[in-house]
Amino acid sequence: MPPVDARDEPVADGAHADLIVLRPQGLYCPAGDFYIDPWRPVDRAVITHAHADHARPGHGHYLCSAEGAGLLRARLGEVSLQTLSWGEPLHWQGVRLSLHPAGHVLGSAQVRVEDRGQVWVASGDYFSTGSGERNPTCSAFEPLRCHCFITESTFGLPVYRWRPQAEVLADINDWWQRNATAGRTSLLMAYSLGKAQRLLAGVDASIGQVLVHGAVEPLNEVYRAAGVALAPCLHAAQATSRDMMSRALVIAPPAVHGSAWARRFGDFSDAFASGWMQLRGARRRQGVDRGFVLSDHADWPGLQAAIRATGAERIIVTHGYEAVLVRWLREQGLQAGSFRTEFGDDDGDAAVQSSSSM
Ligand SMILES: [Zn+2]
Ligand SMILES: [Zn+2]
Repeated sequence: MPPVDARDEPVADGAHADLIVLRPQGLYCPAGDFYIDPWRPVDRAVITHAHADHARPGHGHYLCSAEGAGLLRARLGEVSLQTLSWGEPLHWQGVRLSLHPAGHVLGSAQVRVEDRGQVWVASGDYFSTGSGERNPTCSAFEPLRCHCFITESTFGLPVYRWRPQAEVLADINDWWQRNATAGRTSLLMAYSLGKAQRLLAGVDASIGQVLVHGAVEPLNEVYRAAGVALAPCLHAAQATSRDMMSRALVIAPPAVHGSAWARRFGDFSDAFASGWMQLRGARRRQGVDRGFVLSDHADWPGLQAAIRATGAERIIVTHGYEAVLVRWLREQGLQAGSFRTEFGDDDGDAAVQSSSSM
């Protein structure tokens, strides 16, 4: 679907009411009477993606992308859920609503809202880089033309510039190969939803067996059911021999760091895969052998490119480095502000960031 050019559409006379506002429950569309990723229970919730801080339990009715339904159900169980195909319009109280890929995790969506000639887009979390790379485990981020763009800013600092992911994966495979040759298990910590699957889609499974933590495998099944090719893997408890274990790559959530669960591997090298690893010192403070810079969020050039592609004159910045991005946007002559949301570091990288800020 080509980008929608909202500026070609007629605009009514006079000032427009904001299409999306901040309420104590979350981002709210008054004209359509629905919330986007609300953090308190509401009747109608449009969910951008299944990370825990965006997809919370307790809402009356849920709407998400068809691509994201499997993950949402895996996370929330049986809920009242309506789904939309990419770009499929839905009309609520005369407001036209549609979902478009954000490229962050399987099914992650931007929410496009249109009313009386005004178009607003709420990004949720998205993956966009200055070099135009895409996340191979989900539909690619789609630039949308709009009047107002609500953007995340998780990595909204100039220091965050992602290397090509093929180079990062080659580094990971090298590290794994060297450990396997030395008879040492490779323990790679990564968030179980999204990052683990990025890794499983990119590692070289000819080096050895891939083992995963119990938190990871149910999500892998959802990805595989959606047609995403992942390396074959076993649950860590299914490792059949010391030899298999010593050549294995183990993918587990950051919470296993320093735990008895991790010590079962005996001699191992550990690493984190996270955008936070870009910061000098983050790896050392985290106390792991290696840090691989791999993120499911836009880097600084990616944020700029995505914002520019919207053509929006007004930008509202959410969770991350709001002040830095707002200042940069104002320097570009754009109208910029921020919403204080309750979204977190939902790539599970919070442990890394909080310890790196100590
Ligand atoms: Zn987020
Ligand atoms: Zn997320």
